[in-house]
Amino acid sequence: MFRFDLIEEHGGHEEVVLCTNKEANLKAIIAIHNTTLGPALGGTRMWKYNNDEEALIDVLRLSKGMTYKAAAAGLNLGGGKAVIIGDPKKDKTEALFRAFGRYIETLNGRYFTAEDVGTDVHDMEFINMETRFVTGIDAAHGGSGDPSPFTAHGVYMGIKASIKEKLKVESLKGIRVAVQGIGNVGRHLVEYLTKDKAIVTITDTDNEKLDKVATMFGAKIVAPDEIYSVDCDIFAPCALGAVVNDETINKFKCPIIAGGANNVLKESRHGEMLKKKGILYAPDFVINAGGLMNVYVELEGYSRERAFNMTKTIYTNLLNVFTTSKNEDITTNIAAERVAEARIAKIGKIKQSHLGRSTRNFNTLKVDGR
Ligand code: NAD
Repeated sequence: MFRFDLIEEHGGHEEVVLCTNKEANLKAIIAIHNTTLGPALGGTRMWKYNNDEEALIDVLRLSKGMTYKAAAAGLNLGGGKAVIIGDPKKDKTEALFRAFGRYIETLNGRYFTAEDVGTDVHDMEFINMETRFVTGIDAAHGGSGDPSPFTAHGVYMGIKASIKEKLKVESLKGIRVAVQGIGNVGRHLVEYLTKDKAIVTITDTDNEKLDKVATMFGAKIVAPDEIYSVDCDIFAPCALGAVVNDETINKFKCPIIAGGANNVLKESRHGEMLKKKGILYAPDFVINAGGLMNVYVELEGYSRERAFNMTKTIYTNLLNVFTTSKNEDITTNIAAERVAEARIAKIGKIKQSHLGRSTRNFNTLKVDGR
């Protein structure tokens, strides 16, 4: 049975769309959390959920997260997300993604989708056959392509803001950074850091990647379980979520945690524990918003240079969060939420007022012409 109480409990979403198509074997949910700042944007996840309720909770939680991420990044975007219930290894078909794309089209620009866990650029191309409201399209098809270099650059800017805040220095020269995971984001981050003469230690479960990155950038390698206790200035998680937890928290020897991974804190209380230990935490959804900025620029008419420049704003976005955290004596993760909520409240008010009627909304975003 559909559960309205779950929607209330997970953030009071504006709209939840159930999508079904028997011929295409489609069962999906689109959740639009909040469109005060602009159209809802968030990827489509394809996952083997155990039951429909699990899928509903996931899409409600993830779409709310997108509202906060876009708001804290200063973008004119709201939060949304979609989940397709199915096994991404077995159940993908052209018909399924096109049937899903037709649902997105019916929302007429209130929701834009992109890749997420279990979906890739090819799936987006099928969706794109039915609707314009898709971002993160392959560069060969006029889209912005791989977002990870932009995410990594945003993380690099966020690390610079963090050392200014905590260590009172501007330069990364000689700063010791331990990077967990040297995949798409981590590898680019190591490049930015070593260019600035930071001293980088890396780990990954993929030894081939490790050797390659270590040789290319002169980084030191440690085993995956040793990364938490490396004596360093910054721990940069760029692999998994929930890496700040009851087991790891006493291992950290660093004054700063700042990296690209999502959901770094296992629970919100771990943010409180970091604060008590005097470790500055750069909230994940603020520091890793570079990829979102990149797809946002794609919606406006893509310019790589503009996207790259936009990721630089993560520096000031984070400093604002740190200031709010100090002024209100709250953790940085809670401060980030407050900053996002304050922006939504403020812009919501001007949009309602007479003078605010001309404020940009989703109708002004360009989605044609690619
Ligand atoms: P990726 O899969 O390319 O890289 C992850 C790397 O982590 C891989 O090299 C993998 O081998 C390694 N890894 C896995 N388990 C590990 C472990 N236990 N210890 C050490 N290394 C391990 O992913 P990515 O695109 O680089 O994303 C990394 C993180 O950043 C994810 O949490 C992702 O959600 C987040 N993120 C990515 C983007 C983006 O633009 N790609 C944007 C926002 C957030």
